[in-house]
Amino acid sequence: SLSDKLDKAFHVLKGHGQITEVNVAETLKEVRRALVDADVNFKIAKNFTNTVKEKAIGQNVLKSLKPNQLMVKIVKDELTDLMGGDAEGVDLSGSPSVILMSGLQGSGKTTFSGKLANFLKTKKTRKPLLVACDVYRPAAIDQLHVVGEQINVEVFSNKEEKDPVKIAQGAIAHAKQNGHNVVILDTAGRLAIDEQMMNEISDIHKTIQPNETLFVVDAMTGQDAVNTAKAFNDVLDFDGVILTKLDGDTRGGAAISIKSVVNKPIKFIGTGEKMDAVDVFYPSRMADRILGMGDVVSLVERAQEQYDEEEARKLQKKIAKNKFGFDDFLSQIQQVKKMGSMKDLMGMIPGAGKMMKNMDIDDDAFKHIEAIIHSMTPKERANPNIINSSRKRRIGKGSGTSVQEVNQLLKQFSQMSKMMKMMQGGGGKKMMQMMQN
Ligand code: GDP
Ligand code: MG
Repeated sequence: SLSDKLDKAFHVLKGHGQITEVNVAETLKEVRRALVDADVNFKIAKNFTNTVKEKAIGQNVLKSLKPNQLMVKIVKDELTDLMGGDAEGVDLSGSPSVILMSGLQGSGKTTFSGKLANFLKTKKTRKPLLVACDVYRPAAIDQLHVVGEQINVEVFSNKEEKDPVKIAQGAIAHAKQNGHNVVILDTAGRLAIDEQMMNEISDIHKTIQPNETLFVVDAMTGQDAVNTAKAFNDVLDFDGVILTKLDGDTRGGAAISIKSVVNKPIKFIGTGEKMDAVDVFYPSRMADRILGMGDVVSLVERAQEQYDEEEARKLQKKIAKNKFGFDDFLSQIQQVKKMGSMKDLMGMIPGAGKMMKNMDIDDDAFKHIEAIIHSMTPKERANPNIINSSRKRRIGKGSGTSVQEVNQLLKQFSQMSKMMKMMQGGGGKKMMQMMQN
């Protein structure tokens, strides 16, 4: 994956201890290769490494106290810039505000329409209406109804009407009458770009004049994503990009290239099929993720969304006092389970993505962990340090696992406690140092 390759690139630096002019060039060559392998356009990758090189020279990397760290920082900052500045939301100023989805069939328009409605609904002042403008496939209309039911959002459709523009107009009138302040138009797509699709979406766009036109694209389509983005942008001059299917190990190349080619911000990312598998796109976090540092900030935020605040305060105290034990870990696991799939979450923990990659992770992975913790005495849970070999054997037997697995969990637990302590200390810097070692 891209992260691995960039890791390797930085390894060149680490191996030398100090960077020299020669291995700066070597490293950048590796970085460039990694980007190209991840479907980043060659020209973009080349420009990128040139900029990094100039910055490295400008900031006198070779003479700095920690050249490797500075180099990583420059690469990260540049990646962030390349993917767009700060996170941007969607325009909700209209009454109602109309949001138009565009993109190929299967890109994730219907799914994202639901996710966006769900996301907006949690802001108490928003009452979204989902609109089925796919007039070709009755199943597509049904699909949107299923989505609407899941998230408890009204769906407007009209199977008799064959003109998507008329459906959209009817929906907007309906929204005005019924107090919906956001109208999300889910449209039909084709498997590949064709004239009829482009004419149709362009018609809707011209007549309805939405507040926000979004282009939805499957991140797994790599270089194709860039071409599709360009074709749609030529016709619609859209406002933003939604990058879907960025779950697990999907290559980040699309995110890097799209922004450079169409010069439109990526606004949200889809990270799974479920309605809550959506995140605001933050270029710097994406850069972190691409660099294999893990999307810690997202992880923490997502955790915070789900945690009871009182619970969180208690936990913080415990972590601060080094009193975080396995009972807390167990309740964390319960929380994590609520949050999303194991794969999603592992990908966000620094280092863990790599560690787990070769293992077949599914949500069953929790079962062993839970079994092991359940086989510990309350004393052991509160103070894992007392778990010696004979205790490990007993726990292994009791949980139907092995001493090795018990050891592994203990090790992971201690690493995790350390990491949590660092995050507590607001230690972005500390985190960076840890990554360096
Ligand atoms: P549409 O044709 O553009 O409306 O695409 P759909 O919303 O029907 O999505 C096509 C398929 O991709 C469905 O099976 C979705 O469940 C799946 N999908 C959509 N978004 C994501 C995502 O972010 N991650 C994953 N893993 N699957 C997704
Ligand atoms: Mg659809």
